[in-house]
Amino acid sequence: MSDLKGFRDTERVKNLIEKIENIYPGGELKFMEVCGTHTMAIAKFGLRRLMPAGLMLLSGPGCPVCVTPAAVIDAAIKISSEPNTVIVTFGDMMSVPGTDTNFEHMRAGGADVRVLYSVYDMLEMAAGEPNNNFVFISVGFETTTPGIALSILETRKRGLKNVYFIVANRLVVPALDALMRSGEVHIDGFLCPGHVSVIIGWEAYRPIAERYNVPCVVAGFEPVDILLAIHDIIARVVDGTGGVGNSYSRVVTGAGNPEAQRIMNEVFQIVEAEWRAIGVIPESGLELRDEYADLDAFKRFGIELLQVPDPPGCRCGDVMTGLIFPPQCKLFGKRCTPESPVGPCMVSSEGSCAAYYKYGEMNERG
Ligand code: SF4
Repeated sequence: MSDLKGFRDTERVKNLIEKIENIYPGGELKFMEVCGTHTMAIAKFGLRRLMPAGLMLLSGPGCPVCVTPAAVIDAAIKISSEPNTVIVTFGDMMSVPGTDTNFEHMRAGGADVRVLYSVYDMLEMAAGEPNNNFVFISVGFETTTPGIALSILETRKRGLKNVYFIVANRLVVPALDALMRSGEVHIDGFLCPGHVSVIIGWEAYRPIAERYNVPCVVAGFEPVDILLAIHDIIARVVDGTGGVGNSYSRVVTGAGNPEAQRIMNEVFQIVEAEWRAIGVIPESGLELRDEYADLDAFKRFGIELLQVPDPPGCRCGDVMTGLIFPPQCKLFGKRCTPESPVGPCMVSSEGSCAAYYKYGEMNERG
């Protein structure tokens, strides 16, 4: 199936739904789609309502903007008020609420906040505007982190002295480990993120699969990809094999991309990190190694991160750990909408609350 359209083929989808119905063992099973892009795809293609009764698809913590601590956003907002300082970020971050304000409001008030598609555009700007300091807010998982690491190496190579990074990148596997270890929510299988797995490889999930006897299957983002993975997870639950599967073999291998892993490792070291609304997770974040510490924006601007409470009533933490479905938050669609978001899960294009709102899903059946 070389044509991508084949992965949306109605007949193939129907056939897979039938296969899923046929092997479903009955009763209740809870699978978690770890990644926000999966949450969006599941809502967009209406897959939730096609699942057998009893099979629930829970949202996970894989929305990078959603898990970026408010303290990091507050700190970046503070830096944006420094003279001759440009904050650079991706579009999704603009309306994520900090404690009192967001980047959109700061820009409207005169702060120089620029939205770029590539961090390399920032390097060009920095070279052309030597009197300005440029601060890039780096969020995301292993998918985007190697590119950021490369841009840091490039900053060094070009000798740019006016470029700094706020590093708020997170790692997926430690978050799955923390979820299973907490035991707060029962999970029968993980639908693992396709793009992250291109970098880390499907073998990276084996410790989770074995430690907790929970099947982990990598999926792409088209309906056929997702249904193949769900079928594989059910089959592993039914025959008790557990283990790791890969339904995205056209791009994901067992070992992932060793060169991308090497570059990440050259620039960053693994540290304990806070996930917004979820808490601190051991070995789940990255910071610049000592050789690159002079590029750390927090060090350059003397910023200390402060603990920031979640917005009152917002249940993003419960949404991202699969404890509730977004419409179970009392603010959903009332005080909290994409036009007036209370929490980050309603802002991001990968946020669960935004996905449910956009596609009119009201419960676990869609
Ligand atoms: S609906 Fe809004 S307030 Fe409720 S959990 Fe989602 S983002 Fe937070």
